[in-house]
Amino acid sequence: MKTIFARHTIALALVISFVMAGNAALGQSSSMSTQSIDGFAAQEAARERRFEEQFRAVPKPASAREHLRRLTAEPHVAGSQEDYATAVYVRDQLRAYGVRAEMEEYQVLLPLPKTPSVVEMVAPRRERLKVQEEIVAEDSTSSSRKIVPLFNGYSASGDVTAPLVYVNYGLPEDYEALKKLGVDARGKIVIARYGNSFRGVKAKVAEQNGAIGILIYSDPADDGYVQGDVYPKGPWRPASSAQRGSVQYLFQYPGDPLTPGTPSIKGAPRIKMEEVTSIPHIPVQPISYGDARVLLQQLGGAVRPKGFQGGLPFAYHTGGGANDVRVHLRTDMDYQVRTIWDVIGRIDGALEKDSWVLMGNHRDAWTFGAVDPNSGTAALLEAARGFGQLLKSGWTPRRSIVLCSWDAEEYGLIGSTEWAEQHADELQQKAVAYLNVDVAVSGANFGASSVPSLWKLIRGAARDVRDPKTGKSVYQAWQDRSRDAQPEADLTNAASGASARITEARIGALGSGSDYTPFLQHLGVPSIDMGFSGDYGVYHSAYDSFHWMEKFGDPTFEYHAAMAQLWGTIALRLAMASGLPFDYTDYATQIREYLTETERTAGRRKLGDSFDAKALSTAVNEFAEEAARIDKRRRELILEFDKATPQQGNANMIQTPERLRRINDALVAVERALIDSRGLRGRAWYTHQIYAPGFYTGYAAQPLPDLRQAIEDRNAPNAREAAARITEAIRRATDALRKARE
Ligand SMILES: [Zn+2]
Repeated sequence: MKTIFARHTIALALVISFVMAGNAALGQSSSMSTQSIDGFAAQEAARERRFEEQFRAVPKPASAREHLRRLTAEPHVAGSQEDYATAVYVRDQLRAYGVRAEMEEYQVLLPLPKTPSVVEMVAPRRERLKVQEEIVAEDSTSSSRKIVPLFNGYSASGDVTAPLVYVNYGLPEDYEALKKLGVDARGKIVIARYGNSFRGVKAKVAEQNGAIGILIYSDPADDGYVQGDVYPKGPWRPASSAQRGSVQYLFQYPGDPLTPGTPSIKGAPRIKMEEVTSIPHIPVQPISYGDARVLLQQLGGAVRPKGFQGGLPFAYHTGGGANDVRVHLRTDMDYQVRTIWDVIGRIDGALEKDSWVLMGNHRDAWTFGAVDPNSGTAALLEAARGFGQLLKSGWTPRRSIVLCSWDAEEYGLIGSTEWAEQHADELQQKAVAYLNVDVAVSGANFGASSVPSLWKLIRGAARDVRDPKTGKSVYQAWQDRSRDAQPEADLTNAASGASARITEARIGALGSGSDYTPFLQHLGVPSIDMGFSGDYGVYHSAYDSFHWMEKFGDPTFEYHAAMAQLWGTIALRLAMASGLPFDYTDYATQIREYLTETERTAGRRKLGDSFDAKALSTAVNEFAEEAARIDKRRRELILEFDKATPQQGNANMIQTPERLRRINDALVAVERALIDSRGLRGRAWYTHQIYAPGFYTGYAAQPLPDLRQAIEDRNAPNAREAAARITEAIRRATDALRKARE
């Protein structure tokens, strides 16, 4: 699973600052830097650079290609024999590289279609839709009989016939717009287009509005011919293709629906199906635009309410009239508790074995998963091969590195959530950071989301990895692209005579839609998610195949190798630094921005007085002060550490002095302090007070989640309570930093 919005949001994702015209020095340092590395004393840094260079020489396009070929030979949906075979492959590869690796099993609720779903128009005429992806002759795997039929994970079984209503993206405001036009979704089957929210949100909102079934289709404006040539001529979605995917309410809680908050190991207590709050009760079915066209062009009723028009070549109507289109929808799901397999590899740290740097990627796919997620699996294996080479040369990391290959992510982050729940106590004690890669490569454009404390680490590592296409650093290519994407109008500001330049490409906020969620938002582990993206229209379809990757995504497989280099470099810096490179000044600045935006929204809604913004703002300021203090102290101690180092350039690591170690512990404890075990309102599994997925976005983050939600709901008492809890959390974070003071 993975959002596909990056391409559409780039223009919004720019950090713009005004600098005097002509001052273009920023970001123009040489692409392959040789300077210091944050967190390392000078001599340590020199040694680290040698290790890193040795490491980065290992990942190779040819072997990444071979991993991908093996992993995508057959469809491998979670819980299948083919999925198990990929787990064995990953485990055995890790072992071959000298990394200890084991499988960990869970028993979780996974539905599969018992029979292919039926969608037919019954009025004004009868026509059965195909609901099947066509075989593409040049893509040999597209004819596999093992490809699962088009379905949405956790759809209910059902057999319904009703009038059809087009609900645009299926968000609350779309239903509001329809109500104003006198169109009611109650008792109807609705059809929504993909985009603008996680599909589980569309299912939930449809159910809340009284719909008895929902079709979700891929509009050609989103990832079809409106974007460009369709597969196999181009990388975009052809007419028969639809997007599978889970409709679990992961914004409520992810993981196995039957074991919220606890691991679904053998014999674990399970709740009853009637008690499950994370899945829909109505049939939900994905269809192609080829099929959707048949229904949509027949619809009567109001013509294209504002924002409702999509990319099919006719005016969109809402439907819902007395003599309008009627649809029959039948879904037949086989709900069973099935076994899934995580693979966990471990490289023990030499000096701080109980500090873990985690790298994770899911392995299960709806079909072949060449992009989503096995480009990431290939990168994980190449990074592991790099660590293996270092191990053979006598290297050991200071801290432990844990390599995780998750299962059943597609159904709802299940393998990672169950593992994180099982090892919650240990993770809270030991986890330094969690580095996620889901889609490693669908193109050449680097992007990342993370907690603000790790922004500088990501940028620094990206400076030391070569971008295959441009030959510049990944960092430079990323900055150049952001600058190019900046609208022309922003470039000059006539009034001040200054020109607006992007000083840094923005690193996004973590919402949900991949496996970092249990680590960051349930346990408070600092997290990163990243990858290279591009023109990718075959998401969750039968054409997310090796052939697609070779033809469009990464024909030379150089970006797979680049991802392994970058991911591994970040992991190595966290695993080797004597003083952890976490920057809480950036975190404080980001929280302050969120607060300013929130106050503005609250003001507009006449809720400005509903919460204590002053206390919150004071807490952020104190946090910022303490963050600056600890960073200064951290740098001083690293320098001292350098002086203390014997001048013989030996290869042995030096024990971190006690004072620096206390600082490291404090830096890791900050993120933990931002969780509140009482949980967010109405969704206790989510405990992080700054980051959570939005109720009505599902993928996108809603920073300061409970406060924002209360303001959206115009609920003053809730806003007061939410602000108080956030204030407490920030104060706890400040206290965590203070603990490191001598
Ligand atoms: Zn994925």
